[in-house]
Amino acid sequence: MELMFLGGCQTVGGSGLLISNGETNILVDYGVYMGKKDDPIPELPPEDVDAVFLTHVHLDHAGGAPALYAGSYPDGPPVYVTPPTQSLLPLLIDDMLKIKKLPFGKKEENRMLRKAQIMNYGDTVKINGIIVEIVNSGHVPGAYSTIIKADGKCVFYTSDFNTSQTRLVKSANFNGLKPDVVVMESTYALKEHPERSQTEREFVNAVLNVVEGGGVVLIPAFAVARSQEILCVLEKYNVECSITLDGMARDASRLLLQHPDYLKDYEALLRALSKCRWVRGFHDRVEAASRPGVIISTAGMLKGGPTIHYMRMLAKDSENAIFLVSFQIPGTPGRMLLDTGYFPLYGKPERVNAQIKFFNFSSHADRKMLHSLVESVSKRSTTFFTVHGEKDACRTLAEEIEENYGNQAINPNVGETYTL
Ligand SMILES: [Zn+2]
Repeated sequence: MELMFLGGCQTVGGSGLLISNGETNILVDYGVYMGKKDDPIPELPPEDVDAVFLTHVHLDHAGGAPALYAGSYPDGPPVYVTPPTQSLLPLLIDDMLKIKKLPFGKKEENRMLRKAQIMNYGDTVKINGIIVEIVNSGHVPGAYSTIIKADGKCVFYTSDFNTSQTRLVKSANFNGLKPDVVVMESTYALKEHPERSQTEREFVNAVLNVVEGGGVVLIPAFAVARSQEILCVLEKYNVECSITLDGMARDASRLLLQHPDYLKDYEALLRALSKCRWVRGFHDRVEAASRPGVIISTAGMLKGGPTIHYMRMLAKDSENAIFLVSFQIPGTPGRMLLDTGYFPLYGKPERVNAQIKFFNFSSHADRKMLHSLVESVSKRSTTFFTVHGEKDACRTLAEEIEENYGNQAINPNVGETYTL
């Protein structure tokens, strides 16, 4: 069996792994690069692809897949997804096509969607001689890790995973797995998350403080998963105030409700959503910004979307607050706000008087969880590949695996091939 790393090497973005047994080629993930990079997607695989597996809906894992259905790939391979990924993918890809220049468009996206094959957690599919099983990765609804078997070898590709409890999805459990090769994410190889229940309590107290003082809390959040996670936290702690939901998070919420099996507590999400005010037009926005309460809106890093309108209405008043609930990539307006207290309200950065806070609601494994995974799945001969992390994170994790556990660990470069 051969592994070829197409992307997601020493960076977050453009994830792609080609697995081949000489006759059959399967591609696991095919994402876009998120930042300013010349090539928006990894170079296309040199071989024909017999099947594509998209581990979850995030665009750094799935956003490049329509490229496989362009030009010389008019028919294209089947694409294996879970029901939530199938529902949410068009929403996120359509949104990306509006803002990013890519070597494909709506036509290729539709061709890909027509090739969707549904899998559920625990399902196995055989692509000629390669057997692929998917299991819950605990990252976002519908996200999976893959167990790939061929030539008597077993490869475990974690993709983005989380073994700690969140409100929205059940956590991953990889007990009993003893693969020959592990390809693992390294996003937080250098960081430890605070305890989730402590973050929740701090967050809820901070929200209540602002609202009881007559202010508005703006929570910029990703449309899929983070918005709903925050809603479930507010619901869990019985936060009784006006809660407004705006932007793509509304559509994503509606779609997620169609997949109760993929939610940890469908009833809780339903209750939370039924208490929300759903913004329909600009008038609703003005109204939401003028009464004490919480506004959850896209974009998560304040790069466009209705958050900009809310920033203009709320940022200058010190009674209000902006609570960031996801990692802010350097170079984004959200990161500028967090680091400097300035925000480009009308093009040029202006001082923000509202309270600014960051709460860690990460849906990725942290350093401790990554090390526990290594400990639990490794046998003496297991080889690890560290991907999906910044350069330092991928390198350090590989070094620590070799030092602490004595296993071979490799931090691969784009385009490298390894034979098992
Ligand atoms: Zn992800």
